[in-house]
Amino acid sequence: MPSLLEFDRAHLWHPYTSMTAPLPVYEVAAAHGVRLRLADGRELIDGMSSWWAAIHGYNHPALNEAAEDQLRRMAHVMFGGITHQPAVELARLLVEVTPPPLDRIFYCDSGSVAVEAAIKMALQYWQAAGKPEKTKLLTIRGGYHGDTFGAMAVCDPLNGMHHLFRDVLPEHLFAPLVSCGFNDPWDERALDAFHALLAENRQRIAAVILEPIVQGAGGMRFYHPRFLAGARALCDRHGVLLIADEIATGFGRTGKLFACEHAGIAPDIMCLGKALTGGYLTLAATITTAQVAETISSADPGLFMHGPTFMANPLACAVAAASIRLLLDSPWPERVLAIEEVLRTGLAACRELPGVADVRTLGAIGVVEMKKPVDVARLQREFVNHGVWIRPFGTLVYLMPPYIISRTDLQYLTETLVAVLHKTEA
Ligand SMILES: *Cc1c(COP(=O)(O)O)cnc(C)c1O
Repeated sequence: MPSLLEFDRAHLWHPYTSMTAPLPVYEVAAAHGVRLRLADGRELIDGMSSWWAAIHGYNHPALNEAAEDQLRRMAHVMFGGITHQPAVELARLLVEVTPPPLDRIFYCDSGSVAVEAAIKMALQYWQAAGKPEKTKLLTIRGGYHGDTFGAMAVCDPLNGMHHLFRDVLPEHLFAPLVSCGFNDPWDERALDAFHALLAENRQRIAAVILEPIVQGAGGMRFYHPRFLAGARALCDRHGVLLIADEIATGFGRTGKLFACEHAGIAPDIMCLGKALTGGYLTLAATITTAQVAETISSADPGLFMHGPTFMANPLACAVAAASIRLLLDSPWPERVLAIEEVLRTGLAACRELPGVADVRTLGAIGVVEMKKPVDVARLQREFVNHGVWIRPFGTLVYLMPPYIISRTDLQYLTETLVAVLHKTEA
């Protein structure tokens, strides 16, 4: 019989991997707090929060209890014609924590689907408002919004998969990368190209879609809050909806509960996912305003045309509600700030390395950008051998640990990252 790893290699796709020359994978047997335990007994300090999700760490008693409690009532029930306490309780929390006037919630089963639903809401909104010609989206370069077709079409055209699917993807509008970084002095001209595209195409643009402040998988860039504030004002001026994709940034990661708060704005539609369930289960939400929801519902066919089978899965909703309560009851702003400080001082040493192009930190995110793409398999192996879990991609080696990480563990993560880069890339 093939071993687990052999069977995996022969039969399982992993995210963005080849079936003929896959990168090595590691078998994780259990996870607790900020530690992943490998099947061979080794323990790794988690630097990834399982892709922005596990903000409270793994195997958390409060989240376990919420899941177990709900499991004994019901794991799932359809949402068509039925409601339940976990869905409503989570909705109450989401209405409370997201910026007003966002208060109409559509539950989805993954981030990409939340983006699809957001795009569909924008299109249906303009149909209902008597402007069916508004079908285009405007975004900025360097974005990532998911892997489904609607979402892919607004991912960065170079990083993304536009060339593979050129003939089937809808064509949207792309403004250049934001030239002002989060900490740069603000320069009003940073909005010029975006403004020009928006003004020129206002008649056919349904919505602007942006990751607020932090662009994640499209390049881990942090842009200036004034850009976001400016984009909001321009959307209003030109009659275009604003979709904020907070799937990666939501729930405190950037130092604010939602990254939109850095600019003091609210979008017309917000997408949430990833950390929504504290990394336990797949769940996402697309949240909009009464105005958008009522406009959609006022015109033919009078419905929002979406409804996933596992919509509002009770297990996921129960854990999400517990995760949000856990977050709100914790000193998360102080924790994220403390993480930011350790990341900033700890990663600064990378600036000296010849292979490093940039080092940047914001909230509980620390990024080392290399000049050239890294050897992911080799770096990952070095990291595992040093007892940490860090998964680079492209030119980016980055940390976004669970908020509960201790200073000692976090320092170990940054020191190991610096040492491994020093050894392999210097
Ligand atoms: C991860 C991510 C998505 C896609 O979410 P999935 O759950 O992987 O489908 C969309 N937008 C952003 C900003 C993300 O980081």
